[in-house]
Amino acid sequence: MTHPLSDRISSLPVSQTLAMAAKARELKEQGIDIISLSLGEPDFNTPDFIKDAAIEAINQDYNSYTPVDGYAELKEAICTKFKRDNDLVYQPNQIVVSTGAKQSIANVAQVLLNPGDEVLLPAPYWVSYSAISILCEAKFIEIPSSIEDDFKITPAQLEAAITPKTKMVFFNSPNNPSGSIYSEQEYRALAAVLEKHPKIYILSDEIYEHINYGAKPFSFAAIENMFDRTITVNGLAKAFAMTGWRIGYLGAPQWIAKACTKMQGQVTSGTNCIAQRAAISAVLAPVEKVQYMVDEFKTRRDLVLDRLRQIDGFKLNIPEGAFYVFPDISAFFGKTVQGMKIENANDFSLFLLEKANVATVTGDAFGAPNCIRMSYAASVAQLKEAIQRIKEAVS
Ligand code: GLU
Repeated sequence: MTHPLSDRISSLPVSQTLAMAAKARELKEQGIDIISLSLGEPDFNTPDFIKDAAIEAINQDYNSYTPVDGYAELKEAICTKFKRDNDLVYQPNQIVVSTGAKQSIANVAQVLLNPGDEVLLPAPYWVSYSAISILCEAKFIEIPSSIEDDFKITPAQLEAAITPKTKMVFFNSPNNPSGSIYSEQEYRALAAVLEKHPKIYILSDEIYEHINYGAKPFSFAAIENMFDRTITVNGLAKAFAMTGWRIGYLGAPQWIAKACTKMQGQVTSGTNCIAQRAAISAVLAPVEKVQYMVDEFKTRRDLVLDRLRQIDGFKLNIPEGAFYVFPDISAFFGKTVQGMKIENANDFSLFLLEKANVATVTGDAFGAPNCIRMSYAASVAQLKEAIQRIKEAVS
């Protein structure tokens, strides 16, 4: 029986990252020993100094509705952070705090996109960019890249994808799922193209900013002439191990920030009061306070790369940030392994789930059908075991 759901929800794809995580959880509950490398979620606890700030907020009776765009003190703190880390000078009235960076992105899309507008997505891209564009009845256009180019697009590709209908382009560095980081020079070359097209807005998703293994990521809005057209999105989930606290934020031209506040005021209102108070201490903390997590992620990245490279058919780039590897596994396409025919990345991901009991996410969901995504935000013991299982399953 079909239910009378709206066309909007019927045409919306399910989030593959969340779906795979749910499936892994379900199988675990059935007693199957699944190792889940599906979700991008740090396996650390939120640092004590942030937890203490939340406890203090509860004891100080922070319990009322919050301002829709965030506490003034938090917005000030975010401005300080933008100046300190990104050389960006935002005023508090250009900041909007939201329930996760995902809501920040959805707000921006809702307030800028009209039906029929085109949105450029350099692929691979995070699953929800395309889904959020669909919700706005905009058309998303993928700009493909390959492992040979370290999963980055060129200025010529960007230029070729632009049409009179292009309204917005998404950049995400460090990138989920590839881990690639655009250098300042590479970003400037892309900006030179966009300079010729003043009606295009840029959403720069910098949520993995602090999780990098050398090169400090460059903020797109720091390019002269781009500041007034760029929305910088960030949040606390990844670097501060605060996924469930749901704090994201953006810095944008004031008219965009104001529109996002209006949208949020009708949909969710201000973000949770306790999480916001805790966020003040997280945002103002020196980045060195969370360096131990980044160091650990680097150790795991090196281990995962080293071991996966020993498996025939896995082709890898060197991710410079975030906590994912994104191997090209197209060498398996057309083969039958352990009785399972593998035609595409979906099949391969399902094969790994069934035969190795390892949960990954198909590259299709990220606009890269030759790859699968594996998160290494898991313990070293789990990672070793997962890769050993994969090796045995495919050999
Ligand atoms: N951003 C994370 C991921 O890509 C969390 C899940 C989600 O919201 O997509 O795995």
